Amino acid sequence: MSTIANNIAKVAARIREAAQAVGRQPATVGLLAVSKTQPASAIREAFAAGLRDFGENYLQEALEKQASLSDLPLTWHFIGPIQSNKTKAIAEHFDWVHSVDRLKIAQRLSDQRPANLPPLNICLQVNVSGEQSKSGCAPNQVQQLADAIAGLPRLKLRGLMCIPAPSDDPDEQRAAFARLRGLRDELNHELDTLSMGMSQDLEAAIAEGATFVRIGTALFGARDYGRSA
Ligand SMILES: *Cc1c(COP(=O)(O)O)cnc(C)c1O
Repeated sequence: MSTIANNIAKVAARIREAAQAVGRQPATVGLLAVSKTQPASAIREAFAAGLRDFGENYLQEALEKQASLSDLPLTWHFIGPIQSNKTKAIAEHFDWVHSVDRLKIAQRLSDQRPANLPPLNICLQVNVSGEQSKSGCAPNQVQQLADAIAGLPRLKLRGLMCIPAPSDDPDEQRAAFARLRGLRDELNHELDTLSMGMSQDLEAAIAEGATFVRIGTALFGARDYGRSA
């Protein structure tokens, strides 16, 4: 078994155990492979081992890999910060965007989503830890933004996403994820997605209801930013 296939098996086992520990069906937790800085060959290997959903943060790097992997039926998720001048290419080349945190970006994505593609799946990114420097809307903006995004014709609002401040304390990890779940539960929209949990904290996220965990390092190993676009 290749290293990546081996890592996928280990992550799948972690997901299974975390789900079973709280009485959830493991199949309700999607594994989104975060392939930023990883070469197209690594994505091909992960595909061969059964993965279909891939997350990218950097547009130019993602477009290059997508072009060389166009023979594979992959689902592409954009998960990085979004500048206005990138929305057109994102609307054209991705199936999901997890990192929408302001209305202007959502409006542009809706306007620019090609008519021949299904509506773009959207998660609203929320800053649950309140750090100044992190992206994500404030928790008290979620209702208003969700209402506005739900009204945009070429978007489908699916749920909420967060990247909490890193913590080694499982209780602290769970508290941040519980906050996102609580915000989702308060909304008067039927949202089926909670995008939360990374390599270090996927167990806590699954305990609090994650439907996508976004996993990079635990699947592909440490990232080499020197190689990224
Ligand atoms: C890089 C990244 C991940 C993956 O993080 P790991 O710790 O490598 O699993 C998940 N989500 C987002 C938004 C990221 O940028």
